[in-house]
Amino acid sequence: MRTINYIVVHCTATQPDAKIESIKKYWRDNLKWKNPGYHFMIKADGVVVNTLPIEQISNGVAGWNSQIINISYIGGIDKNNNPKDTRTPDQKASILKLLRELKSKFPKAKVQGHRDFPNVHKACPSFDAKKEYSGLQ
Ligand SMILES: [Zn+2]
Repeated sequence: MRTINYIVVHCTATQPDAKIESIKKYWRDNLKWKNPGYHFMIKADGVVVNTLPIEQISNGVAGWNSQIINISYIGGIDKNNNPKDTRTPDQKASILKLLRELKSKFPKAKVQGHRDFPNVHKACPSFDAKKEYSGLQ
């Protein structure tokens, strides 16, 4: 297993009802990515989908991915495509449960949002993950 220094929370920056298959198709066909953007994706109904084994490297934060497990909730923008925390109560509960499980496997990993990395000019994940999950550190 590679060394995991960060567990990073993202949003997909799509509408909350976007389908995982169509997001994966976008990565593959438009961005030409070989691997998915995230290891886990959390649907609006709280279902967690493992999109890549954690041993492999996903495409969440440019330059940092070798040391990251990337997770993302589906949503993160409003109807006008502006950043918005669209997490449902089910998503919030599933994210927290998943983060707890990952932290127990990788106790030294820091939990933070995509935007908490240097030189990231995105709102992702559209809420303050570092603050919200400070109790997990
Ligand atoms: Zn992100």
